[in-house]
Amino acid sequence: MIDFELPAEYETFRKTARDFARKEVAPLVDEAEDKQEFPRPLLRRMGELGLLCLTIPEEYGGPGGDIFTQCIFTEELGYVSLGMAIGTMVHAAYAATLLLECGSEEQKRRYLPPACQGAEAWAFAATEAEAGSDRSRIQTTVRDAGGHYVMNGTKTFITNSTIADYLIVEGYTDKSKGMDGLSLFIVPRDTPGLRVRKLSKAGIRCSEIAELTFDDCVLAKDSQLGVPGEAFDKVRRIRTASWLLVGARAIGVSRAAYDAALEHAKTRVQFGRPIGHYQANSFKLAEMAMNIDAARLLMLRAAALHHQGRECFQEASMLKLFASEMAVRVTNDALQMHGAHGYMMDSPVQRYFRDARMLTISEGSSEIQHINLARGLGLKADDYY
Ligand SMILES: Cc1cc2nc3c(=O)[nH]c(=O)nc-3n(C[C@H](O)[C@H](O)[C@H](O)COP(=O)(O)OP(=O)(O)OC[C@H]3O[C@@H](n4cnc5c(N)ncnc54)[C@H](O)[C@@H]3O)c2cc1C
Repeated sequence: MIDFELPAEYETFRKTARDFARKEVAPLVDEAEDKQEFPRPLLRRMGELGLLCLTIPEEYGGPGGDIFTQCIFTEELGYVSLGMAIGTMVHAAYAATLLLECGSEEQKRRYLPPACQGAEAWAFAATEAEAGSDRSRIQTTVRDAGGHYVMNGTKTFITNSTIADYLIVEGYTDKSKGMDGLSLFIVPRDTPGLRVRKLSKAGIRCSEIAELTFDDCVLAKDSQLGVPGEAFDKVRRIRTASWLLVGARAIGVSRAAYDAALEHAKTRVQFGRPIGHYQANSFKLAEMAMNIDAARLLMLRAAALHHQGRECFQEASMLKLFASEMAVRVTNDALQMHGAHGYMMDSPVQRYFRDARMLTISEGSSEIQHINLARGLGLKADDYY
């Protein structure tokens, strides 16, 4: 018999995650959005409560949770703020997982405990102005200068880079090897020669993003993360797991938009009836509920495979594509159903729509996911991602 419910302990964890998100995160959202600032103390608070870096094992200072707890926490954060969820996950899921997967024992013992406590914040920098979906176009180089490395290049759209203490940066150590010449480095943000220029964006405004310039940055010999030339494969694997969390975030923001739309449909009266009585709106709500459920099932399948250590590239790609496109549709429909009330800046509904819009662009755009899926069908598709 297949069980579509997670065991009871996960539902208990969901209650903890939901209480935290609603009581401690939601009150910070409006000010953080206005100022375009991620509330840095929040990471420390999550660390205190054992909610940060959930999948990091206890021996490295983490809570020792699994991918299901990470998905649940991400979804509940995404319900109150997609921006907070993204800032947290870049630190907790991208950077901390790369440290766990690629770090030497010494690096793991040095960097993971403060990351799990939220005492040190992390960012991950791959994208460049000319290297978005196509990472082979990365221009950042890292030269071995004997006793140290020297990094030169520019990265852009890097989440958390304004608040981070450390960045994991991808650059070429040997361009002649193509993608196999890409390596990862741990770069302290106060490294001389590193400049950070904050950028402003249309949505998830409380998640900070910046352009980084590395001008002859001298890096210590022990700053290399993992084996030289391994970066492409490692980042690809972490990115596959991160698609589960994109799915969770998409479900979170869609649920928030759906709940608001359902409430509005029941209470807003026009032409003598609540607008939810009109089929145009009730059918929209039915579609929203169905799509959110479908995304959840795709997420549970991919998470179950990941949890068992099985290959889940196609399943995670399908989830990322479906859930992110679904979130754009659901938040758009919720806004439409609110009319002008939803379009005002003091309504959270316009924020859900602006925030959700980024989900189809980053971490492997919808077009790139179509390429992945077509390749999985055995069709000839270029090996871009
Ligand atoms: C809010 C936000 C936060 C981000 N945070 C980070 C971060 O922390 N670290 C980081 O390294 N990066 C980050 N990024 C960058 C993100 O990963 C890139 O936006 C993404 O890789 C896509 O690259 P691009 O935006 O340059 O688009 P491009 O690759 O230039 O693509 C432009 C358009 O062309 C389409 N396209 C590209 N190639 C093909 C193809 N072969 N076939 C069909 N269509 C194609 C794309 O789907 C897209 O619609 C962030 C981006 C955003 C928006």
